[in-house]
Amino acid sequence: MSGTITKVSGPLMVAEGLADANVSDVVRVGASGLIGEILNMTGDQASIQVYEETSGLGPGDKVITTGLPLSVELGPGMLDNIYDGIQRPLPEMRALTGDSITRGANVPALNRNKKWDFTATASVGAHLAAGDELGTVQETSAILHRIMVPPGLSGTLKSIQSGSFTVTDTVAVLTDEKGVDHELPMMQRWPVRIARPYAKKYVPSRPMNSGQRIIDTLFPIAKGGTAAVPGPFGSGKTVVQHQLAKWSDVDIVIYIGCGERGNEMTDVLMEFPELKDPRNGEPLMKRTVLIANTSDMPVAAREASIYTGITIAEYFRDMGYDVAVLADSTSRWAEALREISGRLEEMPGEEGYPAYLASRLAQYYERAGVVKCLGSEDREGSITAIGAVSPPGGDISEPVSQATMRIVKVFWGLDSALAYARHFPAINWLTSYSLYIDNLRAWYTEQFGESYIKNREKALRILQEESELQEIVRLVGQDALSADDRLTLETARMIREDFLQQNAFVDEDAYSSYLKQYRLLSMVLEYDALCRDALLKNADMNKLFGIPVRERIGRAKMADPNAFNEVYDDIEKQMKAEINDVIAGGEEV
Ligand code: ADP
Repeated sequence: MSGTITKVSGPLMVAEGLADANVSDVVRVGASGLIGEILNMTGDQASIQVYEETSGLGPGDKVITTGLPLSVELGPGMLDNIYDGIQRPLPEMRALTGDSITRGANVPALNRNKKWDFTATASVGAHLAAGDELGTVQETSAILHRIMVPPGLSGTLKSIQSGSFTVTDTVAVLTDEKGVDHELPMMQRWPVRIARPYAKKYVPSRPMNSGQRIIDTLFPIAKGGTAAVPGPFGSGKTVVQHQLAKWSDVDIVIYIGCGERGNEMTDVLMEFPELKDPRNGEPLMKRTVLIANTSDMPVAAREASIYTGITIAEYFRDMGYDVAVLADSTSRWAEALREISGRLEEMPGEEGYPAYLASRLAQYYERAGVVKCLGSEDREGSITAIGAVSPPGGDISEPVSQATMRIVKVFWGLDSALAYARHFPAINWLTSYSLYIDNLRAWYTEQFGESYIKNREKALRILQEESELQEIVRLVGQDALSADDRLTLETARMIREDFLQQNAFVDEDAYSSYLKQYRLLSMVLEYDALCRDALLKNADMNKLFGIPVRERIGRAKMADPNAFNEVYDDIEKQMKAEINDVIAGGEEV
């Protein structure tokens, strides 16, 4: 079915003669068959957004609908790959068309010639439901790819074979309840704007371990949770994202890059493939899918990219994996939405963003979560969605930041002032928050006893008090403070410098286990408690602050990740002895 263009406005065009087409259908536009999608329909007129450069197109050019919504291909071959916003494989496109992607180029997302070793695990005669495993493919050394019965299908397995197949070869035949045979290849398709089905959604109750102390101890995110991280330029956003990608205890990482400046994305494309997986020293890409919109790609592809990314994430979650989706940045995505909405001449909302900005963002983040997967195997999987926002001028009162903060439950406030002071990770402990504490309390308590959460609360309280005391110091000077308050300032400094600061580039420090985090913070808080007690006994404050063990506490975070316990025991022993000495000395005078 084909229509004719009547109007072109950048990536948007209007075509008539498409009465039978549907909203969300993918269309091919013009002689070179550019890829587009129908945004809305009035009568036989369709508004179409085109995912490629539209220069040269004009009224009279043909539009052909494919009758299918914008979809992704799901199957072996996605890991270790780099896609654009509509899942075109960039390395293969480049090999085919050179550095600048030729318009209308048609390279399938999953390689059609590559053969994969499929091991059948289901048996002929078995009754299989959607989500049940047919077999597996060892896709990369890190990930076993489950081939599943696609959503919406169930029946009796008529035949299945192990062997070497391409993604489109039939590996199994399923006879449905009506007696119709379905030939199943390894590849599935799924429309990106529709969430993939699952059996049940759970309330998140386990933390995602990131190994980053300020995150895990102060502002944890649950597996299946949502977080936003604003990233003013130079605030260490890239390092935080790399740390999360490397260390989070998830199986799969999906990184969606919506860069604005060309070099931003080039950095990602260069840096990500260089990252090593700390678990096995292999490239991190073996369990990563990169979605990248370089600057030469039009806004519409950027708009689609977050759906492409989250759909791929859902597919891996269906297999029972824990997946982290990092989207950088959702502000660039929202700008694409705004541009398209403007061209559609829709009624603008705040700052020109469409009124549906917040609901679109919510729809995206709602696709995160811990679920019971489809199928009879009782699998559980999760998607943790972390979105970077880049508000202009770092002002989070603008619509995208505000809408995001109303949806997500964790906020890691990266702060350029902290980065400037070389406090990394530059997450501001006064503006950040996690609303998962209540969900995670039981987990923390079960693992480490009640003091984990108590320590956290105490540390936050001391940091809060510090900011209030600093205000007083600014007004009337340090001397006006009581010894108790001076100790609070001292402990707060230790929490910041000896605990929160974490160097991503030093092996001993880049990752902290929960136990190491717990013991390190306990040590600082114990110093605080012992000193407070000593002050009651009239110990000399300056002597307490100057005891030699302080230097050891300062270096304690660098202790060997596998052998810190003995070191920390020893430091605590020394700390007690030295504080007792000061108390004793105080009594002598
Ligand atoms: P952004 O992406 O926000 O522009 P980067 O992530 O590239 O900033 O960080 C800028 C610089 O800050 C890095 O090159 C590094 O020197 C320093 N940095 C950021 N985070 C850390 C960290 N956790 N540990 C050590 N250095 C860091």
